[in-house]
Amino acid sequence: MPTARVPRPPDRELTPQSARATLEQRPSDIHPSRRARLPTSGTRCVNDYAGPVKLFSCDNCQQTLYFENSRCVSCGVAVAYSLEASRLVQLFEPALLCRNGREHEACNWMVTVSRDADLCVSCGLSEVIPDLSDPANDQAWRRIEAAKRRLLYTLFALKLPVVSKAERPDGGLAFHFLKGTAEEPVMTGHENGVITLSVDEADFAFRENMREKMGEGYRTVLGHLRHEIGHYYWDVLIRDAAPLANFRALFGDESASYEDAVARHYGEGPPANWNERFISAYASMHPWEDWAETWAHYLHMIDTLETAKSHGLTLRTPSKEQGRGQIAMDDIAFFDFESLTSGWNAVTLAMNSLNRSMGMKDAYPFVLSPTVLGKLRFVHELVQANRA
Ligand SMILES: [Zn+2]
Ligand SMILES: [Zn+2]
Ligand SMILES: [Zn+2]
Repeated sequence: MPTARVPRPPDRELTPQSARATLEQRPSDIHPSRRARLPTSGTRCVNDYAGPVKLFSCDNCQQTLYFENSRCVSCGVAVAYSLEASRLVQLFEPALLCRNGREHEACNWMVTVSRDADLCVSCGLSEVIPDLSDPANDQAWRRIEAAKRRLLYTLFALKLPVVSKAERPDGGLAFHFLKGTAEEPVMTGHENGVITLSVDEADFAFRENMREKMGEGYRTVLGHLRHEIGHYYWDVLIRDAAPLANFRALFGDESASYEDAVARHYGEGPPANWNERFISAYASMHPWEDWAETWAHYLHMIDTLETAKSHGLTLRTPSKEQGRGQIAMDDIAFFDFESLTSGWNAVTLAMNSLNRSMGMKDAYPFVLSPTVLGKLRFVHELVQANRA
């Protein structure tokens, strides 16, 4: 796709100290006139999880907004997500919106001015997209890109390395969103940094059908992306780094035949007691899938806990000692795996109870066994050790 350079506006109102504090951490993708008004501690990172977390809100009227909003639902000003500030900001300069936002209303992220790109960091990772002249593809692509932005939000919040294929042709990250045919079906998967996703996964009817057929209660586009990026990070953080022995002690020997594992899984089904050792039935197939499923679950936990916390939800399970009426709106220290899991127990209990109140099935149909918690702890410690 052709790229047009977005002119960089003059640095008016720029306070050197505040600009330096944020620019050193992230490429600049925010309108310079906004920089001076950003708190220097505004970049959201794991550190911040131990303290107050901001809601996404409108700069102009403070209306609480969704991460996906491109316009304030109350006062109507244009808003966009700034990766540098890790929050929604008022969009003063339409040219700084990602080209997919300007031309298709398909993205609410700002571009990174210093990278001289007219696509945002997220859209810039999409190497192949389906034919958008087909309305079904267009709709699916929008949903997938929205899920990808949420995926990337958490990766950046955790300060994980995100290196594009453009930056590193061998093993760098790229996404291929493809529409398959009966003759050439698209297999969702990961290979050497390239994540391929069938756009059919964004079709509700297709996914419901597959969800039933495969017995996967949690089949979502975001879940797929979090799973596949797990394979990417296995390469980056385990294969190319160090902790292979530690990995194998928990997840098993990943050099076992993958083909045999697939044949066994779909031939015989998962072992009867799979939920004692695995987060999902699919995870029981092969150590790689166990890893990717556990990784995806960790990202679900981090994102959901942050959201719960930002809305002031209780993150502590009431105990007998605390007594009634003393349920704290507790801050959660995400550095600490114990408080992360205890917060998670409280939030998922609340989520399921809310759903039951609405006559719906549980939002969180998982049980975390001690073995699974051990694997999640491994992910947590690996993420902490690899924060950029
Ligand atoms: Zn507003
Ligand atoms: Zn974009
Ligand atoms: Zn997988």
